[in-house]
Amino acid sequence: MPTIFSKIVNREIPAEIVYQDDRVTAFKDIHPLAPVHILIIPNIEIPTADDIQPEHEAMLGHLFVVAQQVARQLGIGESGYRLIVNCKGDGGQEVFHLHMHLLGGRKLGPMLAPKE
Ligand code: AMP
Repeated sequence: MPTIFSKIVNREIPAEIVYQDDRVTAFKDIHPLAPVHILIIPNIEIPTADDIQPEHEAMLGHLFVVAQQVARQLGIGESGYRLIVNCKGDGGQEVFHLHMHLLGGRKLGPMLAPKE
């Protein structure tokens, strides 16, 4: 069963893709939490950060290079941004296809909400 993000990679469901190459795809998050909220994903299905294997190293380095490029493309390279990868339940992961959130365009505040 392909993930919803694989369907975006393969253009089977619509998304606002801002960058794509043979290894990664970047598209606008459907529920943006900041003026810029992009998801950058491997084109292959890696469910979580906990499933990363040594052979993924180069592709994941490329993910960061694309994040930097997309941030510049969308005008937040200078003002700054945050990159987030949620992993499994406690990490708040909802879609089990590894993805990096690129957030910016406003002051993002503390990294985590204070402990209740
Ligand atoms: P996470 O909680 O880290 O798994 O984040 C999943 C993100 O995917 C959320 O921010 C959702 O808003 C986003 N999302 C889910 N479905 C779609 C979709 N079809 N197109 C764009 N973003 C999506």
